[in-house]
Amino acid sequence: MNSWKENLRKIEPYVPGEQSKEKDIVKINANENPYPPSPKAAEAIRQFPTDRLRFYPPADATPLKAALAKHYGVKVENVFLGNGSDDVIALAFQSFFNSDKPIVYPDITYSFYPVWCRLFGIPYQNYPLDEDFRINVEDYAAPNGGVVIPNPNAPTSIGEGEDFIRTLMAYNRDCVVIIDEAYADFGGYSAVKLTKEYENLLVTGTFSKSRSLAGLRIGFAIGSRELISVLEAVKNSYNSYTVDSLSIAAGIAAVEDDAYFRSTIAKVIATRTRVTGELRRLGFTVFDSAANFLFVTHSERNMKALFEYLKTKKVYIRYFNLPRIDNHVRVTIGTDEEMDIFLREVQNYLKETVL
Ligand code: PMP
Repeated sequence: MNSWKENLRKIEPYVPGEQSKEKDIVKINANENPYPPSPKAAEAIRQFPTDRLRFYPPADATPLKAALAKHYGVKVENVFLGNGSDDVIALAFQSFFNSDKPIVYPDITYSFYPVWCRLFGIPYQNYPLDEDFRINVEDYAAPNGGVVIPNPNAPTSIGEGEDFIRTLMAYNRDCVVIIDEAYADFGGYSAVKLTKEYENLLVTGTFSKSRSLAGLRIGFAIGSRELISVLEAVKNSYNSYTVDSLSIAAGIAAVEDDAYFRSTIAKVIATRTRVTGELRRLGFTVFDSAANFLFVTHSERNMKALFEYLKTKKVYIRYFNLPRIDNHVRVTIGTDEEMDIFLREVQNYLKETVL
């Protein structure tokens, strides 16, 4: 082997939900929003003076920070922005998880966390969810190098409330706790207001789900001035301009269009309630979701086979071949029409695979 090859990084990357090039598919596999972004965000992109693209964007994306600060009732200095929340969380790992002790998170959770730990050389440890797939907060009382938990958790869709976060924070005074709120806008509890009380709490969020802007890549974090200033310093040590000018313009318009934001979320929640009921009537076990997706299993049916069957019908859902959840599937909430196609094909599957 050529010796230069010895020094190449060997790493197993995160695998995102498939982005099929096929047309006419029902794409409910990547927790994207089925509705378009705010018309005001679209207008901001159309109206953007392209001549200004000659200039770098403001390095700290201040105008968008200000819009988010107003939305969340915090100060501009409490807001950090990045190229999607994956970028923000990855930076937070590098900024805050520098202990020799392992960072901790649930065994079933966002599968990017172990990938970042391996990339950055951060030791990590998992605590198993209980048999109902709930997080046992007592596990997090033991000393650790940091905590990261999505709330609602992914892919379980289960959300925890204020008492859970307060208990978690009471147990973790000596490390940074990251609450990944990628899905919190869909009716989950948001810990943003607790960031005023707990200086070591960082809440992250995204425009990819509730604001239908996954293609622009806007993520953010809210936390104490100290945490945010460390994030800024680390970001400015690798790439000053992670949020581009078009994203800043469209992002501001999206945040300011609160009525559209609320109506889109209400539609997704109404469809979620309906599909949960219908799947349960068909004999599936569906966890009560606080997110824009459902986590589904069936005691007598093979979920991997269902996933593969649906794919042949151009309905794309998500299957994880992972311990404890290898007979579950994750189904993003699409439009009512998309979910009707999904439900029809699920019924066909049940008929075609009579027990
Ligand atoms: N956190 C969780 C739990 C997610 O599921 C996702 C989406 N894959 C993200 C963060 C990152 O989303 P984005 O980078 O699009 O903001």
